[in-house]
Amino acid sequence: MDKNAFVFMGGTFDPIHNGHLRTALELQQWMGVERVNLIPSKEPVHRSAPGRSAEQRLQMVDLAVQNEPALHADAREVKSAKPSFSLHTLESLRYELGGERPICMIMGMDAYQTLPTWHEWERFVDLAHLIVVRRPGYDVPECDTLKKFTAKHETESVSKVLSTPAGFVLFHELTPLGISATQIRQTIARGLSPRYLFPDQVWQYIQDNRLYGLTN
Ligand code: ATP
Repeated sequence: MDKNAFVFMGGTFDPIHNGHLRTALELQQWMGVERVNLIPSKEPVHRSAPGRSAEQRLQMVDLAVQNEPALHADAREVKSAKPSFSLHTLESLRYELGGERPICMIMGMDAYQTLPTWHEWERFVDLAHLIVVRRPGYDVPECDTLKKFTAKHETESVSKVLSTPAGFVLFHELTPLGISATQIRQTIARGLSPRYLFPDQVWQYIQDNRLYGLTN
């Protein structure tokens, strides 16, 4: 088993919240790996562009993990000259880490459900494992293509995942935290407090920089 596997969670993180952070930390502990990397996207390719810059979203992730050595903010997509396609990220990670080291891409079940719409998604498992987190309100996919893909690649074994470079899909149920970035943006827009949905440092940053439509 390779405890040094590169495990990462990509996302818009607009803003990062305790649902992301708790998921990343629980997976790090469950898998027994050194750390989980959080990779904010540069320009979202699957959704309309958010109002915050990539640098701002990265800074919020940085602030959120600053006292937690098991989590790390990774700037590779934000600093990249290319738009954020998962395939590019996986190819560059594979190139950087070599052919043997396990790479694990974490995603929520909501993201997994949309996988067949992602650029060259079937190649992801050639480069990495997919770790899919069951999330409140989202079930295992109905779509036939994804059902077949899941049946072909699914494993229940963490040690299999950590002893091979790529190729498996692993589902894991975690403590449900029904928090979304959308909910936080709406809460702020209504003039209500979003405290305790995410770290106080992130809320302070949002207030200091007047993000999400804050005026005072
Ligand atoms: P939005 O509400 O803007 O769509 P989000 O809260 O879903 O945002 P993203 O940045 O889109 O956050 O998500 C990044 C990754 O984190 C995705 O794989 C998503 O499934 C996962 N995720 C988001 N919220 C949670 C949560 N509460 N619990 C577990 N995983 C989550």
